Amino acid sequence: MKLRLARTHHPVTTLGPGRRIGIWVQGCGIGCPGCVARDTWVAEPRHDVEVADVLAWCARHIGDAAGVTITGGEPSEQPAALAELVHGLHALNDDWDVLCYTGVEFDEFERRCPEALTGIDALITGPFRITEPTDLVWRGSANQRLIPCSERGEQRYRRWALAERDRPELQLQVGDERVWMIGIPGRGDLARLQRVLRDQGIELEGVSWRP
Ligand code: SF4
Repeated sequence: MKLRLARTHHPVTTLGPGRRIGIWVQGCGIGCPGCVARDTWVAEPRHDVEVADVLAWCARHIGDAAGVTITGGEPSEQPAALAELVHGLHALNDDWDVLCYTGVEFDEFERRCPEALTGIDALITGPFRITEPTDLVWRGSANQRLIPCSERGEQRYRRWALAERDRPELQLQVGDERVWMIGIPGRGDLARLQRVLRDQGIELEGVSWRP
């Protein structure tokens, strides 16, 4: 089974509790105005990888990850691959929790991905709405809900459902001529980031939050 994958990263500390594995799927047809991940919208076969290969990479981080965060892109557009991935993650390490972002509401996610949902511990649901800023932790807009979906999800996520962020929540990963931003930027964070980099002589081109 192939997954259309944008990228993976470890450790991720800004999308869920603790040090985590991050998996970004490729492809999103929702198109929220103001989305900061426009680079993950287009779904093309060149992004296809075997789910087994993603799981093998995740297995390298057993012992140094509290859980796995799946985001994108829109995970619910790949229901079969998502189901294989989340159940494979629990088979690798039954102590991991799986947190999944989706731009659709819970009922629609359940309709699209019933099999995957049985392996997901918590969902963050709903489209990003640029007109509804929020300080809720791990969320980009106030309409988005954090929903525990399992007993482990209840234990680990219930207390975060209404919690606010108490510190900046952006990680930067610097690669060859690319800077990946990991996390949910607060209002004004992106302009601030561009200013700070410009002051150091670094000009960002082709940023993922502008058409
Ligand atoms: S915020 Fe998420 S759901 Fe909305 S367009 Fe961006 S990737 Fe898609």
